[in-house]
Amino acid sequence: MDCIFCKIVKGDIPSYKIYEDDLIMAFLDVNPVFPGHTLIIPKEHTLDINSIDEETLCHIMKKAKDIANMIVNSLDADGFTLAQNNGFVQEVKHYHLHIIPKYKRKMVINIE
Ligand code: 5GP
Ligand code: ZN
Repeated sequence: MDCIFCKIVKGDIPSYKIYEDDLIMAFLDVNPVFPGHTLIIPKEHTLDINSIDEETLCHIMKKAKDIANMIVNSLDADGFTLAQNNGFVQEVKHYHLHIIPKYKRKMVINIE
């Protein structure tokens, strides 16, 4: 299947991985809204919130809390947003939950 995130799971496309277990993987978004912007995905391909199995969905939400707090602590962020697009607003057609750290101070992202 021609899916970018399946290729990331297989290691065919590089990613900056920050968490992995049997069911899921978390890695930095290539085009971050703010520093530390992370995506959590199931390793098994599935489209969106309607197709993902509930065990994996609950596991993602539990780990999202831990990973988000880890990101907030390590980057000295002030909060975070969880977001998950479905339907026409979903660009990559493999379920993913966004963890977007938020900062009170002004953040500048350097792209070199
Ligand atoms: P969506 O709009 O589908 O919720 O968001 C897709 C996200 O995937 C975007 O934030 C985009 O930057 C990210 N993304 C797309 N392709 C890649 C990739 O190859 N690697 C990584 N790390 N992120 C990607
Ligand atoms: Zn996939």
